[in-house]
Amino acid sequence: MSNPVEIWKSEKHGFDVWPEVERHAAAGTPMKQIDQADLERMKWYGFFYRKRDLPGRYMNRIRLTAGELTAPQAKAIAHLACDLGHGVIDITTRANVQVQGLDVGHLPEAAKRLARVGLSSKQTGHDNIRNVFAHPFSGLMPDELIDTRGLCHEITSIFLDSREYSDLPRKMNICLNGTENHSAHFWTQDISFLAARRSGGEIAFHALIGGTQGQTPHLAWRLPVWVEPGQVVEVTRAILDLFRAEGSREKRNAARFRFLIEAIGVEGVMNRLESRLPFCLQPCLDAPAPARSYDDLIGWFPQKAPGLWTMGLSVPLGRMTWRQLEGLAVLSRKWADGQLRTTHEQGIAVINVPTRHRGGAATDAAALGLSVHADSLDRNSMACTGSQFCNIAVTETKGHMFQLLEKLRKKQVKLEGVRIHMSGCPSSCAQHFTADIGLKGVRVRRLLGTREGFDVFLGGGAGGQIEMGRAYRLGVDVDQLPALVEEVVGEYYVHHRPGQTFSAYWRERLGDASRTDDGAKAGEDDYRPPVWICEKCQHRHLGVDPPMFCPSCAGLRRFFARLEEHSSETVGVITPPAERPDGYVFAADESAVQSESGLAVTVAGHELALFRVAGQVRAVAALCPHEGAPLAQGTIENGVITCPWHGWTFDACSGCSLEPANHRLDRHEVLVEDGKVFVRVGRGSAPNHEQPSSERRSGSQQPAAAKAVCQPRPTQAAVATLSVADVIQETPDVRTFRLDNSGRKIPLERPGQFVSVCATIDGRDVWRSFTVCSSPARPEGLDLTIKLNPDGQVSRHLFETIRPGSRLKLRGPQGRFYFDPTRHDEPLALISAGSGITPMMSIARFLRDTGDGRSCVFVYGARTADDIILHRDCGQLVAQMPGFRYYVTLSQAGAGWTGACGRIDAERLGEWIDDLAARRCFLCGPDQFLDQIRAGLLAAGVAEERIHTEAFHSREPARV
Ligand code: SF4
Repeated sequence: MSNPVEIWKSEKHGFDVWPEVERHAAAGTPMKQIDQADLERMKWYGFFYRKRDLPGRYMNRIRLTAGELTAPQAKAIAHLACDLGHGVIDITTRANVQVQGLDVGHLPEAAKRLARVGLSSKQTGHDNIRNVFAHPFSGLMPDELIDTRGLCHEITSIFLDSREYSDLPRKMNICLNGTENHSAHFWTQDISFLAARRSGGEIAFHALIGGTQGQTPHLAWRLPVWVEPGQVVEVTRAILDLFRAEGSREKRNAARFRFLIEAIGVEGVMNRLESRLPFCLQPCLDAPAPARSYDDLIGWFPQKAPGLWTMGLSVPLGRMTWRQLEGLAVLSRKWADGQLRTTHEQGIAVINVPTRHRGGAATDAAALGLSVHADSLDRNSMACTGSQFCNIAVTETKGHMFQLLEKLRKKQVKLEGVRIHMSGCPSSCAQHFTADIGLKGVRVRRLLGTREGFDVFLGGGAGGQIEMGRAYRLGVDVDQLPALVEEVVGEYYVHHRPGQTFSAYWRERLGDASRTDDGAKAGEDDYRPPVWICEKCQHRHLGVDPPMFCPSCAGLRRFFARLEEHSSETVGVITPPAERPDGYVFAADESAVQSESGLAVTVAGHELALFRVAGQVRAVAALCPHEGAPLAQGTIENGVITCPWHGWTFDACSGCSLEPANHRLDRHEVLVEDGKVFVRVGRGSAPNHEQPSSERRSGSQQPAAAKAVCQPRPTQAAVATLSVADVIQETPDVRTFRLDNSGRKIPLERPGQFVSVCATIDGRDVWRSFTVCSSPARPEGLDLTIKLNPDGQVSRHLFETIRPGSRLKLRGPQGRFYFDPTRHDEPLALISAGSGITPMMSIARFLRDTGDGRSCVFVYGARTADDIILHRDCGQLVAQMPGFRYYVTLSQAGAGWTGACGRIDAERLGEWIDDLAARRCFLCGPDQFLDQIRAGLLAAGVAEERIHTEAFHSREPARV
């Protein structure tokens, strides 16, 4: 067990949150004051916090096993939405219903109202078994092989209210289909039972396992056995037990059941099932027919009982008003026997309508705005929740889709089986990449503002096998979608071959990206990922999708806008030109090489630093031979490069070290032509994977893959003068200098980095490095917590002269010792001694500010109780973060100290951190401390690449 979710799950079961729910309901606790883990636990009761639905509302997801719904239940849900919510009800692709807009004070009342009509919303979210659905018309269809509703209820009874089965590694989706035609939905579930007639005529089920939707969809594997109806429940239980016992809980994104199957194979699953089941399963050689596209559940369907009909109604985009649902409850009693079904196509049906009442029922439904004759647009469209309610949506969806369909209707565009799915973000809840036309919400920067837009994918499909849509156009303004859909549908109608589907046509037209023999296929190096800019703090992010949150200001994904296509050049991604015949390779635009700072580039697989000396450009090895510091982040003055970490100096022309002597940097020949810098990498230069042997090698920046591309990377460090907002005495010899960085002049990005501070002493500028102690997620302030070094020039100068209102010149951020949430997904161990606490505080505060709920153990060693730095701040972090643990040990504890005594060592770490080997460890302190702890961590099984170390030195060389 290692991921943060598993840790808070183990600390308190989701079922045990109910007293808290009642307490918050009675007190009307604002959402932001409720413990984040408890907000997550509320999903065990079907209540989902909605941070966007201000002021802090909740959505209630109600389980409808097999999609069965009675008139009293429908009425109760309608009244729940009317009385306590926004009056809006959504039907989901698992045939649940969701009521939006509940106030915290109404949650217990909502649960009571549901219980009164035999409904429950328990276990409809998080790591639970979700609604078990069947074909919506089960028990009604004339050609059905078996009615599976009873099995759905039996399976549900296994896990409902069970503590064991509500603590799975991840969620589990289960469904059954008693017909011979199995739509794509049934192939993307964790467990599907698909009915078939055996050669002897008896009915049994094919069992499919491990299907998923989401960002990496996967069609299910088939178990090579028949499962008889009487065996279904036990087989399901055995699979659940297997998942509970062997499913990985290490990483959330690799915890679904499919990953266990990938690990042990279908054969492994079979072996384990055989040992768990009290009976033998009969082998089955026949595969079920491949998945069809989607079920058409709108219209009139004759039932097997003569004279009775099912009225399948279209619910545009799955959303109803409470009046519509209440009206359907009344209608179903007036014209039928008061029974309804929800469908996995986000629709609803009234069943058992006698032939003579069909007209009346359809007329009443039409009066409610629900049609049995939906047009091709309503039948073939799907939209996720979108920004109206979803916490992480980038764009609105249902509203945009509604407008799109209206405009297509006016243009008389007919879809005829062409599916359009719209998702509001990359999470793909509307399965946009497997739709014929997939739309993924993005924000796009246009001129001075941003617009909602959509990336358009064509050619996706879910029939037979899942096909991913191909990117057709990116960042299409939402207003341009109708014209674009008209264009692509029109082209298909005009040009497709007889029998060729829309998706097949567009896959052929856009090229099959899966082919590897296609000479025209774009290579990896040709790909230029887009640039995203955070609208709150202007932080830039290079990647296929925007990050979940801004690493600079912790703003949510929705604040990121994609710059238009050409703008990727603004962060220095340059199409690699071919190597020149004379061996020179393009490295950078000359204008990018400044006279006072270096520029890091990668040329033909070598990391280099470019400097300008007396107007000439010089190229040297990127890393300092001492401890591997990035020299481009250092300074250049009078042809002397100063290392940003420890102040070693080098002559930029010869590469020879000045202080200390007898070291050298590899140099490379430079040619400047037409404003372009070309470099010929010399034979003696080290390729970039040969990193110096030092603790910084295990730092958080991995060496770039060797490839023939030139990617000048902007030097992140900036030079700025900031005013001092406050000076706080932390301990007798430690002060925090709080600087005003509200102008973001120092572009803080990563917690753990340092800045260089300039002190003018005796008329000379002296630079010293100090780690930033504050959180980069709050970049408007920059805290330097500094211990007075009686022998040190700069710290003494700061203590003696710097007061609130003073101004300090800084350069930064710098350094490769930092926590990167985009690449580090393990729980953390932050281990420090003395003033090495500062980068750890920055990391811990960053976790708090970004709502990162992972487990973090903070271990700190000091000499005496008076020397404990930031003790109160750490105590506050403990109170603010459920997954944060804080341990202090003193090497010279006085009489009044009741805590741990002695130095930090491997044994003590093992006592405090039982899953040490699974953690990413950051260490900061004196060299000897680092060596000892690092050796202990390696012996405890911590992987070397997960140990990050940063040494601090009592005396650092001056940078003058
Ligand atoms: Fe929310 Fe994104 Fe899922 Fe839509 S796709 S419901 S926006 S998470």
